[in-house]
Amino acid sequence: MFVEAKDIVKEYQNGESILKAVDHASFSVKQGDICVILGPSGSGKSTLMNIIGALERVTSGDMVIDGIPITSLKGEELIRFRRNYIGFVFQFYNLIQNLTVRENIEICKNLSDCSLDIDTLIEKVGLTEHRDKFPAQLSGGQQQRAAIARALVKNPKLLLCDEPTGALDYKTSKEILNLFEDLNRNYGTTIIMITHNDAIENMAHRIIRIKDGKIVLDKENENRKSAAEISW
Ligand code: ADP
Repeated sequence: MFVEAKDIVKEYQNGESILKAVDHASFSVKQGDICVILGPSGSGKSTLMNIIGALERVTSGDMVIDGIPITSLKGEELIRFRRNYIGFVFQFYNLIQNLTVRENIEICKNLSDCSLDIDTLIEKVGLTEHRDKFPAQLSGGQQQRAAIARALVKNPKLLLCDEPTGALDYKTSKEILNLFEDLNRNYGTTIIMITHNDAIENMAHRIIRIKDGKIVLDKENENRKSAAEISW
């Protein structure tokens, strides 16, 4: 298994009490799969995603990615893991406003040992004619395309997407989902996407549901649909 979460617990101190944001979660994801993690707001999705991306420490349990026990990595090893393995896509794009599309992508290219050609990637995400524009000159969908290219330029093995269509209208959301599907097929990138939009589970190879920090469903999707076929 490419991603293996083993009995993950994440607690936060909440005043006097302790809040279990992730409560003994175990699951695994195959290499090359699209995995959708669903759950209501506050159920622990982002916390889990940040643990997979080694941005957040666990209280207990092990996260193993490509055989690497990331929960025990420290310092340089942790930084190298994040650089070489993980691409992040967020709901609100998080582009650097005073850099152009191309420059936003370029600064991430230099982080990895194994990067993709910037202009090929810009073409792949459909931004060739916008590559010298600044984020404020682009629509939400175009900004998300730029953010996806930025995440992918390092050629990460694992793309982590936190509500990537949460700020987009229906048509643009569908275009972005199509793009993920296309990139997953073409580059073989494993994608873990968190969302509270149930319809998106239809395009996943694996569906995980989380509630109050607990995994309440974990199944392979036997009736997978293409992104173009799903609607909500
Ligand atoms: P989701 O992504 O499903 O909306 P989160 O993972 O963001 O859920 O949050 C899960 C729970 O953990 C929530 O109750 C949230 O308030 C709490 N939480 C998340 N991050 C922190 C933090 N840094 N400190 C304290 N509590 C947190």
